[in-house]
Amino acid sequence: MPLSSVRSAVERLLLPAECLLCHALLTDSDSIVCPVCRHRWRAVRPPWCERCGQPEPSFGPCRLCAAWPTALKAARSAVWLDDGARPAVHALKYGGLPRIADDLAAGMNTSRPPADGPAVLIPIPLATGRLRERGYNQSEALARALARRWRIPVTVDLLARTRETPTQTALTPGTRLANVAGAFDVRHAACDMPHVTIVLVDDVFTTGATLAEAARALEQAGAMRIYGVTFARAAIPDFT
Ligand SMILES: [Zn+2]
Ligand SMILES: [Zn+2]
Repeated sequence: MPLSSVRSAVERLLLPAECLLCHALLTDSDSIVCPVCRHRWRAVRPPWCERCGQPEPSFGPCRLCAAWPTALKAARSAVWLDDGARPAVHALKYGGLPRIADDLAAGMNTSRPPADGPAVLIPIPLATGRLRERGYNQSEALARALARRWRIPVTVDLLARTRETPTQTALTPGTRLANVAGAFDVRHAACDMPHVTIVLVDDVFTTGATLAEAARALEQAGAMRIYGVTFARAAIPDFT
């Protein structure tokens, strides 16, 4: 039994049947978030930029994805990172309870990218130090939950993070790109890169800089069709 399954089984035994977020009693034992909390997640809806999925404040070329590598075809996020979704993202990231990933994955069905032919899910990796500190990669937990629903395998040994980047919340879109430049490395081309659809998985999309940089590394290793999916999308205050 993989360690993650053991952990999830232990959590099931230890946790009372109450919502992880609001502590209301749960009737559906498959879920760790109650329907009321899930109802507070606000879906990201079109009209949006067809490529990056950002709702467009004006017409004309999209500033957010203009510099993306060609192989990165599209990115979608399920919900807005606001007061409704923030506790769930926080629990995934810092709560030490990766089982909430199943609930987040359930909310991501409409973000599933078109995939004909072979596909793999690749979680955005953490640098080794950060991984040791947290004990798990929240994006990997999310990718594994999506893998069960979408029946697409997860690959974690292909993409590596060479360094952890400073927290991005205070940076502008331009400085974020510089911030993550060269942060990823493709260890070895374990799959037939040009013919596999790669779906990058992350918890939050802010400016897309992290996805774009990971896609750039994969593109340099031969990947030609890359999509990005995230559970949440942060509104960019100064982006118009
Ligand atoms: Zn709740
Ligand atoms: Zn765009």
